[in-house]
Order: sequence, then structure tokens, then C-alpha cells
Amino acid sequence: MIENFKHTSSFSNFTETCELIRNTSSKNKKVDIISNYLSTLDEESLYKAVLFLSGRIFSRGSPHILNIGFRTIMQSLFEISDLNHEDVGKVHLEHGDLGNIAEYALSKKQRTVTLFSFAKDQLDSLALNDIYLQFRKIANLSGPNSNSEKKNILKGLLIRCAPLEAKYLIKIITNEMRIGSYEGLVEIAIARAFRKDVESVREALLVSGDIANVALLSKNDKLQSVTLKPFVPMSFMLADVMFTGDEIVEYFSKTLYCEFKYDGIRLQLHRFGDNCKLFSRNLSDISYAFPELVGSALKICKKETKNDAGEVTAINFILDGELIGYKDNRPLPFQELQKRLRKKVMTNEILNEIPIKYIVYDVMFYDDKSVIRDSLITRKKILARLLLKDKNIIIAKSTFVKTGEEINLNFKKSKNEGHEGLVIKDPESRYHPGKRGKYWIKLKEELDTIDAVVVIAEYGHGKRAGTLSDYTLAIKDFKPTTKGDNDHTLESKINNDPSSFLRIIGKAYSGLSNSEIDFMTNKLKSLVVKDEGSRIMVKPEIVLEVSFDTIQKSDRHDSGYALRFPRIKNIRYDKGINDIDNLEKVQNIYLNQFHIKNKTKQ
Ligand code: AMP
Repeated sequence: MIENFKHTSSFSNFTETCELIRNTSSKNKKVDIISNYLSTLDEESLYKAVLFLSGRIFSRGSPHILNIGFRTIMQSLFEISDLNHEDVGKVHLEHGDLGNIAEYALSKKQRTVTLFSFAKDQLDSLALNDIYLQFRKIANLSGPNSNSEKKNILKGLLIRCAPLEAKYLIKIITNEMRIGSYEGLVEIAIARAFRKDVESVREALLVSGDIANVALLSKNDKLQSVTLKPFVPMSFMLADVMFTGDEIVEYFSKTLYCEFKYDGIRLQLHRFGDNCKLFSRNLSDISYAFPELVGSALKICKKETKNDAGEVTAINFILDGELIGYKDNRPLPFQELQKRLRKKVMTNEILNEIPIKYIVYDVMFYDDKSVIRDSLITRKKILARLLLKDKNIIIAKSTFVKTGEEINLNFKKSKNEGHEGLVIKDPESRYHPGKRGKYWIKLKEELDTIDAVVVIAEYGHGKRAGTLSDYTLAIKDFKPTTKGDNDHTLESKINNDPSSFLRIIGKAYSGLSNSEIDFMTNKLKSLVVKDEGSRIMVKPEIVLEVSFDTIQKSDRHDSGYALRFPRIKNIRYDKGINDIDNLEKVQNIYLNQFHIKNKTKQ
């Protein structure tokens, strides 16, 4: 039995499984391969295998970051093998992937072994856990010598790798696990391996954000015990769209919560004990940008405490809300707020120039207990128990509405106060992480904007010569609610095969300031996947929010639609590839746009 574990937990077993997955096109067979593999693993290896298969190194929310650069990898390969620059060029052209270069390098073994003259038993086979521990060691390195120490550890690992193992080791490090075993498939495979239903695995994942832990819980029959974890961000609940107040009232036919739609950054605030962290929509930690908010959150206590001095009740909570720039009693334009995300060091000057307000509209965790399964009414009552100590944090005002007229009235009020529109909410709904269901409905006056990702960038002319100022944009052809898939698997899907999930919607070149174009130029250059001279194909990473006059049908783009008079409203630093809009939204806007246009003219 022990022998068996030793074998199944080996890295070579993992890489053979990856190759099998890679060589199978059937989704169902891939799931079978993964689930068979997972069911053979002990707990320790299961955790690591699931992380690596889902293209992760550490679980979401982990403080560890590997950070091994291209140079370190290449130097390591040069130093342990007979690899030369000519080979690198050749293999890179053929495969375009560092993993393949590593495989090639390790196939030139002779020099490797003689150079290091390791004793045979030191070259024993690698286990998944060995790799994970070395990754942890690398992540813990800091200081001036850390790069060379990283290189030594990496070399130590590579030297113990067979060529195929080296290929996957490097793929894991460079986040290039394009084997089609993206998170969505791993989820189904976990369910199949441990005989759980896919929906409960998915729900557990959306709540905890930690797929490796979800695998362990499934194996141990403890999925029900999954809970939110401090400082592990949970997927946000999303809003659906309707186009008029009457439509909303007709759909629900009951009393609803009505809130302003604030135009800012979606922000999840975790406060546990003396620590507080802020997570953006793409679940990255953006605490560095808003230190005053962290300070304000740490001061919050329970209203029942009443004792202002007695900060004994260090209450724990996770809040959901919108962060806006706010000055002189008006919201600041969204672009102002974005400026803060781009600064690495926050000075008092910036804090004063762009003051913020965090408007809290939901709570997911309160006083050591998850409240996502409670109704919105209960969650609002919980919010009312927070004693807020300064103006940086406020609770969103909710009013009750029953008629289209009331909704229209609130809509005007929201616009007058400088906000974007309304979000209407079903009071009985629970918090649905990661879902865009008909529980929250957004209502905006203008045609909705589209969040799209830049896939191609072209050099401009005249004043814009030398800058990458024309952007070809894509949306996703992917429904987040489809059974067997979910939203945050898009990234790995796209890595696997961009053409099957991204659809071009048009080009945009106006709306950005010169400094934003400079930013785009630099960033895009770091994302090149193919250079064609006057234009470059880029890794789909930068998300732009575009407004437009109308949407038209078009044969020119593979989405089947084109944006008329597109204008870039914002670079969405806070959004990632998983947050871009899908084809269904474009189709909906297309179908509804004339109705809206006519209505606003009345
Ligand atoms: P959109 O980004 O256009 O899909 O609109 C949904 C977004 O509106 C959410 O993700 C929030 O960031 C934002 N929002 C602003 N105010 C509210 C609110 N009161 N309730 C929920 N979401 C809101």
C-alpha cells in the first residue's frame, strides 16, 4: 500500500497524467483521467496535484508568491544542460513555450549528470510534495541574493527531473498549464472521484476559493463544513440587467430593495482581529492602495458594545460594497479613483487629492459565522449592527420600492447625486457567490458599457506614432451559468485555446489620455505573443470598459456584432480576463437598444 502511495504521489505520475489529458480531446475523458488520478492520491499529494492541475502554485489567498522570472529559468537551464541559444530559438519557434524548452534541455542529459556528479540516491524520483516544499522555500526568499538562491533551488529540482517532468515543472512555474485540465474540469473530476454532486463542489469552491481544500473536504466527506476563510476572497455576487422600472416590477411583483448604483471599484473587505485586507473584483489584494480604509475598518465594533473606549469587541467580518472617490459632497469620476490603484506608494498628498468612501451594501461573514445563506433582509439587519467610527465607511441606503414610478423617482435622485443608476434587490435572496442571477438587477440609463479584453494592438499615426493606441477588443463566448463550467475557469480555458472562447467585437482608439496610452503601450509590450511589425498580438489581459452609440450586426468580426462609435471609458485595472462581458450580454443589448433609445428620447 505504502509502495502504491509512493508511486501515485510521484511527480512523474502527475506529468504522465498531464500528458494523457493533453492528448485527449474529449472533455468527458479528460474528467475521467483526472478523477481516476485524484482518487489514487493520499491527502498530502491530492492537495498539491489539484493546485498544479488547476494552474496554481499556492491556494488563493495564500501569502506566498513564487515569482521566478524568465531569466532565472533560462539561466538554470543553460547551467545544467548543453542547451544553446540556437536550440532555444528553434524550440521556441516550434512550441512557443518555456516548458518545451526545458524538456528539450533535459533531454541533453550527459552534461547534467557529470556536471553535478550527484550520488545516485540523491537523484531519486521527485514527489509532488518535494516540489511544493521547494516552491515554498523560493517564495520565502527575499533580499539581494534571493535571485541566485532561487536559481539554485530551481536547478536542484530540474536536475532531478526527467525531460517530461522538467516540461511540466516549468509550465507550473510559468502558469502555462495548457493541458485543458482547467479549474472547471478539475471541479467535475473532484465530484466524480469522491462521488459528490458537482453543484456542491462548485458552491464550496465559490465560498472558500480554495480548490485544493475543496478536494480534501470532498475526499473526507466534509463538504458541508466549508466556510469562508479569513483573507481568502470569495467570488462576488453579480447583478443581472433589466431595462425599465416596469420590467423589474412585473418580473418580481413584490416589494424590493432599491439602492443607488455607485460607480467605483467593487471591494470585499476582510477584517479579522487586528488585520484587514481589501480585495478587488478579480480577487487581488489591493489593500496597499487604500490604507485609510484599512484603518477605518479596524476601528469598527459592535453597536451593542456602546462603550466607545472599550474596543474589546474586535468583531470579525467580511463586507461587500463599492469604493468610490468622494470629494466636496460629490462622487469623483471613476478615473480619479483608478489613479490610486496605479500608485505603489501612497502619500498624504494622494490621500487628500482623492479621498474615498466605502459604501457597504452586503455582509458575508459576521461574528465568526458565515451569513451568505441568510436572506438579504437578515444581512441588512446585521449591517445595521456595525458601529462605524468615521466617514470613510458608510452603509448604503436602501429604500423599499413597489412600483415602476418609485423606481423612476429613485433613478432620477441617483443621477442627480452623481451616481450611475440603481441596483434593485430581492429581499429574500441569499448571497450567491460568483453568480449573475435575477436577484440583483441593475438599471442604468445609457446603454450598458461593455468590458472587453485587448487581443491586438496597433501602432498609431501622426501624434500617436510610436505608441500602441488602436486596440482590437474581444468578449467571451462563454456562459458562466452553463452546467459543468463556471466563470472563473475562463482564464485557463483561454490559455488552452483562445480562439474557442474569445470573439472580436471591434476596434477602439479614442477616449484615453496620453498618459493612459503610454501606460497601455508599456503594458502591451510586456504581453506580446506575436509581433507583426505594425501590430502585435497580445496575451488577453488588459480589460477596457467601452461605451458606444449602438451595436450592429456585422460579418467582419467573429462575434457577429460590431460596436458603433466605440469610446474607451476606462482601463479597468480592477478587472481581469474572467470579468469581461460575454456574447449573450452583447446580444441582449443589441435586442434592447432601440427600445431604450426611444424611451430616453420621450
Ligand atoms: P456592472 O459592473 O455594470 O455589471 O454592474 C454591477 C456592479 O455594480 C457590481 O459589480 C458593483 O460593483 C456595482 N454596484 C454599485 N452599486 C451597487 C449596489 N448598491 N449593489 C450592488 N452592486 C453595486
